[in-house]
Amino acid sequence: MAYISLRSVHKTYPNGYCALKDINLDIESGLFIAVLGPSGAGKSTLLRVMNALDPATQGEISIDGVVLNKKNYRQMRAHIGMVFQQFNLVDRLNVMTNVLVGRLAERSWLSSLFYLFPKTDYQIAEAALREVDLLEKAWSRADKLSGGQQQRVGIARALAQQPKMILADEPIASLDPKASEEVLKLLRKICSEKGITVIVNLHQVEYAKQFADRVIALKSGQVVFDGHPDALTQARQAEIYGTILEETTDDYELVLAHA
Ligand code: ADP
Ligand code: MG
Repeated sequence: MAYISLRSVHKTYPNGYCALKDINLDIESGLFIAVLGPSGAGKSTLLRVMNALDPATQGEISIDGVVLNKKNYRQMRAHIGMVFQQFNLVDRLNVMTNVLVGRLAERSWLSSLFYLFPKTDYQIAEAALREVDLLEKAWSRADKLSGGQQQRVGIARALAQQPKMILADEPIASLDPKASEEVLKLLRKICSEKGITVIVNLHQVEYAKQFADRVIALKSGQVVFDGHPDALTQARQAEIYGTILEETTDDYELVLAHA
């Protein structure tokens, strides 16, 4: 059975823009999925509807056999880790506290307010930091770390949720190539060793080919490719990124016309 299923999912924003059109997907547990597609294709929207951060406006999403609805959003979200392009750490807090934030879904608002966590939460956070190889930085301020290290803290925070799935929205877009590869290797390791389903929005086809078990490509809010990365030939890539290439050419001509 699929871990996460989307049936006829549509997302129309309040301004009437339809960012996802009739998405049907079944994603088995424990896979590493790369979501590709040009800017504006709907990749971030897809991750947000999967996490019910910005719910679908039509269709049905089920996770682990449970259909997402208004009543269970919060509870379902507790076990989905999110990783962001800009890391979303609290800069002035230390690394340990940032990772403990991953435990907040399990705690009362009062203990969250004062960042009070039981000992078990510290143990979970410590294990997560060990997993991303940053335990020695536990008491450093988050903003003292390099970008790659900050993203690893972001991953540790997701791990502290003890997630069954991690959704990463362009997790390497702000990193240099070396840190990018480290972060993707780490996500791949977490997926393979812990059986956590990882879905990553990416810009680079090469990284998708290197790390993913399956590639889903979006264009104008629709799935235009879904398969093994090896099937992503040059021709298929041109189809996926076609419009953007044309747009680039137009821009180029426009610049020349004004020169
Ligand atoms: P991607 O992540 O692939 O770049 P997004 O999911 O961010 O694409 O956006 C898909 C489309 O939806 C874009 O055309 C974007 O402008 C539009 N969009 C995103 N968020 C909103 C919003 N809150 N309101 C209206 N339109 C939006
Ligand atoms: Mg995006």
